[in-house]
Amino acid sequence: MVHVQRPILIVGAGQAGARSLRALIDEGVTAPIILAGDEPHEPYDRPPLSKDLLKAFNPKNADPLCPAEVLAAPNVEIKLGDPVTAIDYEARVATTAAGETIDFGSLIIATGGRSRALPVPGGDLCIGLRNMDDCARLSQELDTAKRIVVIGGGVIGLEVADAARARGIDVTVLEAGPRVMGRILPPTASHWLAKRHQANGTDIRTGITVNRIDKIDAHYAVETDQGLFEADIVLAAIGMTPNTEIAPTDALGPGGGILTDTSGRIAGYDNLYAAGDVAESFNPHFGAHLRLETWRNADRQPQAIARTIAGNPAEYAEIPWMWTDQLGHNLQVVGFWTDTSEEVPRGVPGEHGSSLFWTCDGVIKGGVLFDNGRDRRFLETLVQNKAVVPTESLADPELRLKKLA
Ligand SMILES: Cc1cc2nc3c(=O)[nH]c(=O)nc-3n(C[C@H](O)[C@H](O)[C@H](O)COP(=O)(O)OP(=O)(O)OC[C@H]3O[C@@H](n4cnc5c(N)ncnc54)[C@H](O)[C@@H]3O)c2cc1C
Repeated sequence: MVHVQRPILIVGAGQAGARSLRALIDEGVTAPIILAGDEPHEPYDRPPLSKDLLKAFNPKNADPLCPAEVLAAPNVEIKLGDPVTAIDYEARVATTAAGETIDFGSLIIATGGRSRALPVPGGDLCIGLRNMDDCARLSQELDTAKRIVVIGGGVIGLEVADAARARGIDVTVLEAGPRVMGRILPPTASHWLAKRHQANGTDIRTGITVNRIDKIDAHYAVETDQGLFEADIVLAAIGMTPNTEIAPTDALGPGGGILTDTSGRIAGYDNLYAAGDVAESFNPHFGAHLRLETWRNADRQPQAIARTIAGNPAEYAEIPWMWTDQLGHNLQVVGFWTDTSEEVPRGVPGEHGSSLFWTCDGVIKGGVLFDNGRDRRFLETLVQNKAVVPTESLADPELRLKKLA
């Protein structure tokens, strides 16, 4: 009897999808693998979309995520530009918008998310920045714009502000919270960053509520509780909504993602996995399911899933890490900031090579590294180990973090 192996289907050809494919090939998996994506492009890296690629857009400068030999491997099939619209989990069959059906034995859902819509009248007039086509459109509009209003003072909003200022455009950032990047950064880092943007000519308004947006001829009027702002472009950078429409409805978590265990397995299902921004995975360090929207999570989680599928069960859980590049500075953030934490500066926060840590009851929980990436893995070790380090030692720039770790 000839045994026909059902394929491994990866839905979503973004970072986690592409990384899953690469890792499966690296693990020596010879079963058929299908990578199905809704975008027309081969997988590319997303962080440059709000950084270098937006300053001078050229799709040729996009960073590909899969080497040509992986895409051309004999057991690999790439299907682009056709979203998967439904999955029959019992029969193990996926259906695409074009009406194609794809049988699978194992499934990895790596559908990421889409820009969150601004829920006010005229909110649909805003553009978002999540993919290559968004970047191309925003870049083209920046070519002729004089003024942009960015709604949301988070990572993407501030990186866009930087890119727009570099093109000589007037920028206003409207942030609903009391400070920029308030969910990620401690107050001292947040205030330093806001000042840097203001010194660069960006008008930053915090604690502001956007009530409506109107289009008047070729311009936009953004009505807020602090007055009216006019612009040629309005960007909504207020977070993302996970793409969970095709996920099993009984596997959705409180964070809006797909619940998985530490191996990326979808709770209650065999051979079904979720990875990247869409996954809400159990993290033993925090004792909770977390949905992370970071590059490294989308890079590492698929590697554990691929090993598990290849028959070498693996787990993945990490101390959250992300970076942002703004105004010539590289900021790396380890751990989660909480308002009950205590800041511990090392050097003058913001200066090249400085750090701003935070602790809770003496335990180091995280930190921001300012142009100081070399300390990242030592900080991760300290946080991972729930280390108790005397404040004086943590604050002392003469004491190498490597030693403390
Ligand atoms: C502009 C930007 C800048 C960023 N900068 C940083 C940074 O500086 N540092 C950092 O740590 N992280 C950064 N990130 C986050 C990082 O890029 C993401 O965490 C990562 O891309 C997540 O990978 P993913 O595969 O889960 O999702 P994505 O990369 O979004 O890929 C998901 C893919 O699935 C597709 N898809 C969705 N639904 C379907 C369907 N039904 N059928 C088929 N395909 C589907 C989507 O269109 C997309 O192509 C940035 C993200 C963006 C958008």
